Amino acid sequence: MKRKHYCPHCGNGLIDKCTEGRVRRYCETCAAPVYENPVPAACLVTIDGDNRILLVKRSVPPKKGWWCLPGGFMELGETPEEAGLRELEEETGIKGKIDMLLGVTTHRGRIYDTILMTGFLVRRYSGTPVAGDDADEVRWFDRDEMPEIAFASHQSFINIYYCTYANDPSPCD
Ligand SMILES: [Zn+2]
Repeated sequence: MKRKHYCPHCGNGLIDKCTEGRVRRYCETCAAPVYENPVPAACLVTIDGDNRILLVKRSVPPKKGWWCLPGGFMELGETPEEAGLRELEEETGIKGKIDMLLGVTTHRGRIYDTILMTGFLVRRYSGTPVAGDDADEVRWFDRDEMPEIAFASHQSFINIYYCTYANDPSPCD
């Protein structure tokens, strides 16, 4: 992940110091570690009447040009559900309603190290998908034409949907 060099509270330089059982970035002026935690995000498995899943083609790094679920990072004050639905509208233009939580997992990335990813199922929505923020293209995919997905965490929620909640589930490996 990107290494922090300065204390976010006082601006002084940070050192590495073993504290509370692991090496952490530490501010000697504040006499406190700068805690680093996973960054929470939410993504959505959105289903249409034909059991197709809505994907967006990423227009920004990481994984620019790859397909993934609509989603993104939570903002301060949001619930995971609110974050997911906001990202859905920003990236695809449709307004959704959360049906249920599909799961929670983590994935490792270069910038944030660890992302805590929540996945929700959306089967009720209004509007027609149009590519918006961070998306070059948006479209519905049948199960047999699904492209390779940018992030393993997103793929895991798609698998949970197909294995457990799809109307016509196929046997899962
Ligand atoms: Zn400080």
